[in-house]
Amino acid sequence: MTTITLVKGDITRQSADAIVNAANSSLLGGGGVDGAIHRRGGPEILAACRALRASHYGKGLATGKAVATTAGELDARWVIHTVGPVFSATDDRSDQLASCYRESLRIADELGARTVAFPAISTGIFRWPMEDAARIAVGVVREAETTVEEVRFVLFDEQAYEAFAAQLR
Ligand code: ADP
Repeated sequence: MTTITLVKGDITRQSADAIVNAANSSLLGGGGVDGAIHRRGGPEILAACRALRASHYGKGLATGKAVATTAGELDARWVIHTVGPVFSATDDRSDQLASCYRESLRIADELGARTVAFPAISTGIFRWPMEDAARIAVGVVREAETTVEEVRFVLFDEQAYEAFAAQLR
């Protein structure tokens, strides 16, 4: 059984086996969660991302996929980078957003991570409506067959927290 917990706060302050990064396909850093993770995690994470770009991920990481690196100075063993879809009102990309959670959990299982912290992927710079993103995120975790014991959603503000809490009620 996977327990879902909710926390309001900064994901870079969390202690977990794996912290998920809402990355972009370049894997070379960006704004939002990505920027915060690289700032607090230090240069080791970016070095590991550059190494990925130089080896198996020459074109970067595709939307909906996930890959792990060191967590640098974060209080975690791994950062799992996943690339959410940019929200589109005309093109339903829900499967890609669901895939981010599914693939991240698959990587977490491979690593043997028991606690995984997720941000609300795609709800920042990528503009996904929070209620819908929460529905997709919670839905995937509830259905997932995973050995992860705790999935912790780390929500940056009250509105995000409430959207996820509503899905758990
Ligand atoms: P994306 O590009 O996938 O939309 P963002 O990082 O821009 O990713 O935003 C994803 C969500 O994470 C947004 O709801 C944003 O408010 C939130 N967020 C931004 N910084 C942090 C942080 N340090 N910890 C947790 N959540 C954060």
